[in-house]
Amino acid sequence: MSVATVEVSLSALTHNVERFRQIAPKSKVAAIVKANAYGHGILPVVKHLADKADYIGVARVSEALAVRDNGYQGNLLVLGGFFPRDDVQLIVDYNLDIVIHTPEQIARLCSLRYQQPVQVWFKLDTGMHRLGFNVEEAKHYFMQLAACDSVKKPINVMSHFCCADNLEADITPEQIQHFTTFLNSIEDKSLIGLTSLAASAGTLAWPEAHFDMVRTGVALYGVSPFSFKDENRKTGQMLGLKPAMTFKSELIAVRQHQKGESVGYGHIWQSPEDTTLGVVAMGYGDGYPRGIAEGTPVLINGQRYPIVGRVAMDMIVVDLGPDSTLQSGNEVIFWGKDLPVEEIAHHSGFSPYELITRLTPRVKTRYV
Ligand code: PLP
Repeated sequence: MSVATVEVSLSALTHNVERFRQIAPKSKVAAIVKANAYGHGILPVVKHLADKADYIGVARVSEALAVRDNGYQGNLLVLGGFFPRDDVQLIVDYNLDIVIHTPEQIARLCSLRYQQPVQVWFKLDTGMHRLGFNVEEAKHYFMQLAACDSVKKPINVMSHFCCADNLEADITPEQIQHFTTFLNSIEDKSLIGLTSLAASAGTLAWPEAHFDMVRTGVALYGVSPFSFKDENRKTGQMLGLKPAMTFKSELIAVRQHQKGESVGYGHIWQSPEDTTLGVVAMGYGDGYPRGIAEGTPVLINGQRYPIVGRVAMDMIVVDLGPDSTLQSGNEVIFWGKDLPVEEIAHHSGFSPYELITRLTPRVKTRYV
């Protein structure tokens, strides 16, 4: 049966971790696998990276529990912090590192005694203004944590860039400065454990931001964190990364089509000439954007063909040209090594982060 399939290259993941080790040789590497490993399948990805990354990072406690239950025993960081409804005892039992970013979390954590102290990451708001203690009051709260028996010492410290993908942004050096100023303000250096500021873009573009650990999300999957604008058409591959995901399906019908005829819902496209149309088993029900620009390419036997007409729930149509010899069953690639997802994102109005993450459960995943 023809179905849309994702192929995940495990050797590409290995390569990308190694690439990050080259780029940040003095830093640990955290593999960020939130949101089902950016669509690549959290459990198989963690299993593969367990002995390759120094840390695994997720966004939610629920994701961390699934990773532990699947047998991962290494360092496991919950980036989103813990939430009022989360059971702190569970965090202790599952040996999770948690991010502390509010006074309420400190009060809750420190009001109880646990068998094991909890490894926390103190989150500083250096400019993102989303989560974290602002620089003026951070020292006060850090010292509260330091005095708290239920917190493991030393305490790790982290922050997050808002604009590291913009190489001209003044805010990034300012964030690095705020981070360093905070670290310097703590007189007792033995209280400070690992320090971490950079995610993918920060690691690639701002070497002075590497600190003790870099957190690699989208680049782990071989995708560039930089926007794919006219003046900066850099793909992950141009940054020395290997794309881990190939999204593909196959032709399920090949039909002759006359000049002036339309195809698909709304008849929004008419053929300018006699041609051959290929119908492909993949649509917005698989997560491909319905509103993608007409003419967006797919790859068949190494050659690009444009999408014509409207993307439907289960099908798209491509123009194979007048003399096509392609047949039902031929493989069709929507993105992968020779058709970068960054380029497809550019056609779709979505970022590559979203494209890889939004594929739906009916897409089969194979690991190669
Ligand atoms: N660190 C934190 C705190 C994050 O929120 C994220 C993702 O949003 C990452 C790291 C990974 O980011 P990226 O995918 O850009 O590498």
